[in-house]
Amino acid sequence: MIHFTHVTKSYEANWKALNNVTFRINKGEFVFLTGHSGAGKSTVLKLIYMDERPDEQRGGQVMVKFSDNILYDSKNTPDDRIQALRRKMGIIFQDFKLLPDRNVFENVALALRIVGTPSNKINAAVFDALALVGISQKRFAMPYTLSGGEQQRVAIARAMVHNPYLLLADEPTGNLDPKNAEEVFCIFKEINARGTTILMATHNPDFYLNSPFRRLELSHGELLNRDIL
Ligand code: ADP
Ligand code: ADP
Repeated sequence: MIHFTHVTKSYEANWKALNNVTFRINKGEFVFLTGHSGAGKSTVLKLIYMDERPDEQRGGQVMVKFSDNILYDSKNTPDDRIQALRRKMGIIFQDFKLLPDRNVFENVALALRIVGTPSNKINAAVFDALALVGISQKRFAMPYTLSGGEQQRVAIARAMVHNPYLLLADEPTGNLDPKNAEEVFCIFKEINARGTTILMATHNPDFYLNSPFRRLELSHGELLNRDIL
């Protein structure tokens, strides 16, 4: 589903945030992305949702392939197709990024409203997504009244409401206490068990040391484990 081929990314001349990174993630996998702060984890995720592109002159390439005919390639995907790419994935951040002036239901519904989904379908999809994360009873609450763990569950519901092929998460438990972090991780495992591919950047060894899932480990922009092609 995700192919990085010799990807180098420089934000500034003579400094490589990522250096010659090659890996693949297959459909249905749950993969961890680890490494120290500044190692390049967020950059990998930004390259996948095409907020950034690989350095052109170094010939690297990022390919995101959802099926034989739904394919996005960093060399050939024009900027005006990036919204379409993002609609096929869900993205979750450490700081939740909920809209503060809309309630839980509207935060989750928004992505469907933007693409003109009929309201009966929106209701069904939002209820399913809220039930998945166990927060249906808070559907009329405003984000500022929720705990961090609850806000992150709303963000997960929002990411899942359109049934994405792929879920990307950048330190999703970084602002949560251990109990809430564990709950969020359990929700991720359930989402993966239902078929969604997951790439999760995390610092938390409790997750990756005690899970059967593959780990991509970055250090100073280089991928350390090379047995992952
Ligand atoms: P995290 O370690 O949680 O992924 P960030 O991705 O926010 O944190 O930032 C990682 C590093 O990248 C930090 O050192 C930050 O200062 C730097 N950084 C992030 N965005 C920019 C930017 N726009 N310009 C310069 N440095 C940045
Ligand atoms: P991580 O997510 O592992 O903390 P990042 O991918 O955020 O790492 O950052 C990798 C490197 O790229 C860091 O040295 C960071 O400071 C730098 N960096 C990230 N974003 C920018 C940016 N927009 N402009 C300049 N430097 C950046």
